[in-house]
Amino acid sequence: MEITLLGTGSPLPDPRRGGPATLVRAGGQTILVDAGRAVVMRLAGAGTLPVLLNAVLITHLHSDHITDLNDVITSHWVMTGQETPLVVYGPPGTQTVVDGILMMLAPDISYRLAHHTDTLSYKPKVVVTEVQPGATFAIGDVQVKVARTHHQPVEPTVAFRVEHDGKSVVLGGDGIPCETLDEICAGADAYVQTVIREDLVKLVPNKRFLDILDYHSTVEQAAQTATKAGIKKLILTHYVPSMQPGQEDEWRALAAKYFKGEIVLGDDLTTTTI
Ligand SMILES: [Zn+2]
Ligand SMILES: [Zn+2]
Repeated sequence: MEITLLGTGSPLPDPRRGGPATLVRAGGQTILVDAGRAVVMRLAGAGTLPVLLNAVLITHLHSDHITDLNDVITSHWVMTGQETPLVVYGPPGTQTVVDGILMMLAPDISYRLAHHTDTLSYKPKVVVTEVQPGATFAIGDVQVKVARTHHQPVEPTVAFRVEHDGKSVVLGGDGIPCETLDEICAGADAYVQTVIREDLVKLVPNKRFLDILDYHSTVEQAAQTATKAGIKKLILTHYVPSMQPGQEDEWRALAAKYFKGEIVLGDDLTTTTI
């Protein structure tokens, strides 16, 4: 199983980091988890395209995690040779978001249908499955489990555990440690967690920025969750504030205080295999 951090940024724009998105390749399946800013560019950087995705998993409907889902939908649609659904799994509310995206794209869809009359005769087809905590489903021979996470007042939010051939990775999305996250992480090979640096955020005298502290895991909390669950590899992403060049060891050291396994972090397109 191969895990690629497509976008390691956050809502704060950084020219070097795309928004939250992670790619999981396992058993011939290509699975995108979240679709933040620049996701289609980073998919290309990882050697794939929306039309090659077997499924898109959405952890929650915060804008930074879905802002370029519209690009995934359009780029998928225009490269299909026949009507092929884009398969999306996400928490309740995902269908409403996808319906809104398709409404926003309606003028573009009409232009392309009018222009490519011989080769494009169908609108984008997006098949959404809204998943509840505790749900399980399969993407080919890859198994996926869903758990509730704690990112309130954002509700509902979920984590996904992706399993194939005895290997497993949990994609925790945003949130603070909680029992259901501990449960879905238990015994996994790898755990991808979005993190913030509490020490650095606290230096910024801005109430709206300080507000983020109460609903995101710190680097240390992610490490504690990983240790509690017996994770082998901790993968950190969604760096707030943005991790600057040369700061990698500092971030790694904070996690290493609480987690003795391998710690993976870095730039967009950082890839690790389990
Ligand atoms: Zn986020
Ligand atoms: Zn969020």
